[in-house]
Amino acid sequence: MTSANIRPASDYPPGGDAFRHRHLIGIAQLTPWEISYVLDAAEQWVDLNRAGAAKHDDQLAGLTIINAFFENSTRTLLSFEIAGKRLGADVVNMHAAQSSVKKGETLIDTAMTLNAMRADAMVIRHGSSGAVQLIADKVDCPVLNAGDGRHEHPTQALLDALTIRRRKGKVEGLTVAICGDVLHSRVARSNILALTLLGNEVRVVAPPTLTPPAMERMHVTTFTDMDEGIRDADVVMMLRLQNERMDGAYLPSAREYHALYGLTPKRLEKAKPDAIVMHPGPMNRGVEIDSIVADDPVRSTITEQVEMGVAVRMACLDILTRRKRGVAGWN
Ligand code: ASP
Repeated sequence: MTSANIRPASDYPPGGDAFRHRHLIGIAQLTPWEISYVLDAAEQWVDLNRAGAAKHDDQLAGLTIINAFFENSTRTLLSFEIAGKRLGADVVNMHAAQSSVKKGETLIDTAMTLNAMRADAMVIRHGSSGAVQLIADKVDCPVLNAGDGRHEHPTQALLDALTIRRRKGKVEGLTVAICGDVLHSRVARSNILALTLLGNEVRVVAPPTLTPPAMERMHVTTFTDMDEGIRDADVVMMLRLQNERMDGAYLPSAREYHALYGLTPKRLEKAKPDAIVMHPGPMNRGVEIDSIVADDPVRSTITEQVEMGVAVRMACLDILTRRKRGVAGWN
C-alpha cells in the first residue's frame, strides 16, 4: 500500500473524536476505526522516513518525552526515541538498571517523581501486567504502553497491522497463524485483539503447555499441530520462546521444540504460496525460526516491521499530544 491508499481525512470524525483516548494502554480499548486512524496517520511518516531527512517536522518541538523502561529493550526503546526525535521532541531515556527502582523505590513513587518533572508524554515498559495503567492513573500526561508483562504491547500490534496492510493491501479477511510461546506473549495478546477486531481469522498454534486457557473467548482457533495450524495461512507470525518469563520446564528441549514448532522452509510450504512471515524480534534463530526463512527477502517482513515501528510510534506520539499542543478540535 502506498500513500495513495490513505483514507481521506474526511472519512473520520473531526478532531479528538477520531481518537478519544488520553493514553495508549492496550488494543483492548480501541475500536477498529481508531486502529485504522493510527495506521493511516503512520502511512504518511513511512514515506517521509524513507526520504531520509533526519527530522521531518517540528510539531513536537519544545515537548519532553520520557522513555521509562523498567525492562530491557533494544528495538522498542530505540524506535520510540527515534520517533520522538524525528518529530522534534526532547527525548530522555530512563533505564531501570540505573534508576532508583533498584534501590527499592515503589512504582508509584517513581511515577510521582517522573510526573513532577513535567514530561509531556511518557513511554513505559514494565515487567508486570497492569503496571503501565497504574502509572497512567497517577500522572498528568499521556502514557504509552511499550509492553507490560504478559498483558499488552499495543504499538507492536499496530506496526504489525500496518506491515500486513502494506504487504497484503488489506488487513481484513486474512488468515493469520500466531505461532509459538503464546502463553508468555504480550505481542500475541495485542495482535489477537487487533486482528480479530479488524475482521481476520486468527489461529493460535502452540504446544499445549504454551497455549493460554480459554482462547475461544478471544475468538481464535487453537492448534497444537504446526502443519495444520499454518495450512493456507496468509500470514505466519512467529513468536520468541520467552525463557525469561518461564518459571519451570514448559518444553522438553529447544531441539524438540524446533522439530515440532520451528518454522522451516518445508513447513512454510503448508501456508499459502504468497504467505508472509513475521516475527517481533528478538529472534532465536534455529529455535522458533530458521535463518533461511527469517532472511527470505520475499516472504519475511521482519525488517519492515522494525521500519513500520518508527512510523507507528511517530503517529501515536503525535496523536496523543495533540490536546496538549492545542491542535484545533483536540480539546
Ligand atoms: N520484543 C517483544 C516484546 O517486548 C517480543 C519479545 O520480546 O519476544 O514483547
